[in-house]
Amino acid sequence: MGLLALGTALDWPDAKQQAHLVRAWGIKQLLEIWNKAKGKERDAMLWGDEIEYLVVNYSKDDSKVLLSLRQADILKALADSKTLKVTGDCAPGTEANGDAGNVTLPVFHPEFGRFMLEATPGKPWGIDFKDLLTVEADMKLRRCIAKDHMLPNEHPITLTTFPRIGSPGGFTEPSYPVSGPKLRSQFVPDEIANPHIRFPTLAANIRSRRGRKVQVNVPVFRDENTPWPWKDPTVNYDLHNWPEDDDVRNGAAPDNFIHMDAMAFGMGSCCLQITFQAKNITEGRKMYDQLSPLGPILLALTAATPVYKGFLADTDVRWNQISRAVDDRTPEEMGEKPLKNDRWRIPKSRYASNSTYISTDSRLRPEYMDPNLVIDPEIKQQLLDGGMDDRLATHFAHLFIRDPIVIFNEDLQELDLTKTDHFENIQSTNWQHMRFKPPPADNSIGWRVEFRPMEIQITDFENAAFSVFIVLITRAILSFDLNFYIPIVKVDENMETAHARNANLEKKFWFRKNPFPVRTTRRGGSGSRSASGASTPSGGPSRPATPPLGPVEDEYRLMSVNEVINGTAYAKATSKEVTEDAEEGEEFPGLIPLVESYLDSVNMDVATRCGLARYLDLIRKRASGELWTAAKWIREFIAKHPEYKKDSVVSEEVTKDLVGAVIAIGEREKRGLGIDDLIGQVPHLEKLFGTFLKGKSPCGGAGQAALEQELK
Ligand code: ADP
Ligand code: MG
Ligand code: MG
Ligand code: MG
Repeated sequence: MGLLALGTALDWPDAKQQAHLVRAWGIKQLLEIWNKAKGKERDAMLWGDEIEYLVVNYSKDDSKVLLSLRQADILKALADSKTLKVTGDCAPGTEANGDAGNVTLPVFHPEFGRFMLEATPGKPWGIDFKDLLTVEADMKLRRCIAKDHMLPNEHPITLTTFPRIGSPGGFTEPSYPVSGPKLRSQFVPDEIANPHIRFPTLAANIRSRRGRKVQVNVPVFRDENTPWPWKDPTVNYDLHNWPEDDDVRNGAAPDNFIHMDAMAFGMGSCCLQITFQAKNITEGRKMYDQLSPLGPILLALTAATPVYKGFLADTDVRWNQISRAVDDRTPEEMGEKPLKNDRWRIPKSRYASNSTYISTDSRLRPEYMDPNLVIDPEIKQQLLDGGMDDRLATHFAHLFIRDPIVIFNEDLQELDLTKTDHFENIQSTNWQHMRFKPPPADNSIGWRVEFRPMEIQITDFENAAFSVFIVLITRAILSFDLNFYIPIVKVDENMETAHARNANLEKKFWFRKNPFPVRTTRRGGSGSRSASGASTPSGGPSRPATPPLGPVEDEYRLMSVNEVINGTAYAKATSKEVTEDAEEGEEFPGLIPLVESYLDSVNMDVATRCGLARYLDLIRKRASGELWTAAKWIREFIAKHPEYKKDSVVSEEVTKDLVGAVIAIGEREKRGLGIDDLIGQVPHLEKLFGTFLKGKSPCGGAGQAALEQELK
């Protein structure tokens, strides 16, 4: 998120009047930058991550843990300390309050929640493999610097959601009464949102456009003592402050669902995002398509969100809750009423899995596209008239079916083609799981693709591992020309599947059987063998594919996360919850073996390879179930807590101990101590981390020697 311009934000009825103008200008700005940048070549392979934090106020002596609403003060402190001096604590080895040396200092950003913070690296990472090993230290540095600009009791933690956000009894410091004019929530005060006018306006205008509050209903987890049917005990049916208080009387809070009613319940969640720069637009479009089918798999594998509003949920991830928390569709658009005032029915929220493929790849079959994709035909025509090709024009004409939500009056004076503000207005409020980012107006950087589905992980080690894994799989995709295409509607279906409790072990996802490019003959060297025994191409030139294409349905089948990540053979040997039903000749090589084949094909010293192996190992073990997801660990932590009554209630005391454990893990990680002394004290910790966060590095000693042997 860039700098936030100040201005007069229009309320919904006024903003609606200007929506058409913003779209029209946005398209002109898009065409301007597209024309300028479409022929750009040889941009560097750069990438960067985004880490989002919750800021909690925690002290052993307090009876409960609270969300700190001091985002603005913390950001100001970070901005004021001109050089963001890295203290000895944050960078062992440098002098206390010493210069940061050649460390590039991170960038901190505001976020929707006033209890949130985002940090990105000071500059994007390059192509060097050594950069992949710097990420973890940089993430630790970011967390450490953030902490240094907080009060002693404040901590930046990377749980996806605060377990008791919206619970009765107060959950913020300072505390505010609920039912403010912007959110009109029963459960959270307006002060929960970043006070910059953009954020409350976003929330208020989404609500106004919908004609009612957002409805974020999550199925409650039914435990032994959970009353059934379950009625959310925190819902108040007798409020009469706002017209929207009628929502719950009109059925907004169904039985057996945790009911939430404000944007903060979704946009207050933390995630891990990765942005890649492609060498040119063609490569960017390919990366966008090929990473799309991986989204739901990585969502399930990073699952970390089992609690909402003080109750255990029956889902493990945040995605749909954010989707509903910003769903601005009207009853007509949702198909609840016949179309009269609105232009079309829209099947998905503006926060949803992406609905288009955009590559010029000849392997993109028309059958993979969504036959029911809604687009704005006029917008598409304007883009075609401007010279854009059909596929990309379709993509943007789909994004542009949405209204802009926040419009500043000052921006409507005249069209400025040296800016992209109107384009970005629509683009940046289309929160899909992939985002195709054109260069900024000055064309100073290249075409970028953002991978957005992953849940934030508790430690920087894990966040680095997932970031590095996505970078490496992207390199493997480009290097081996891999093909992960399946119909985009199957990606949608997978996204739903990813929500189930333990989906990473118990569910199956549609995935392409054969990821290799079809080649009739191969010249220039033989293919290398991957760890799973699958043959991978070695990159020699080949003739174009000629065999006739069979039915699309034959190209994919259901696979477990284990099979997708580790390959069929590994999955068959390790899966406990599901049976792998690959037929003869349908063995999937696995993403990790593909990455390993790629690493085999490049020059790399043993230490680097070993450092990367540590990350790949974590992913491998999470996928096989040898290690737990954070969601599973949080559930089991709660289940084992003496205060938990098996009634799905996550009390203040349980929440405090959970957050306390997370802080303790973070403290040890920061100091490079390992978590040995916490094992036994904090339940099931070894199931979350295995030996990874133990004192000694698994890369030294025997492991390293074995690897060296293997590499010979
Ligand atoms: P947004 O919130 O819109 O996704 P941010 O600025 O918060 O954008 O994060 C963008 C990420 O992209 C950061 O990690 C940043 O380091 C990275 N980045 C910046 N410039 C480039 C570039 N030219 N190529 C790839 N990544 C980049
Ligand atoms: Mg950002
Ligand atoms: Mg963010
Ligand atoms: Mg982002």
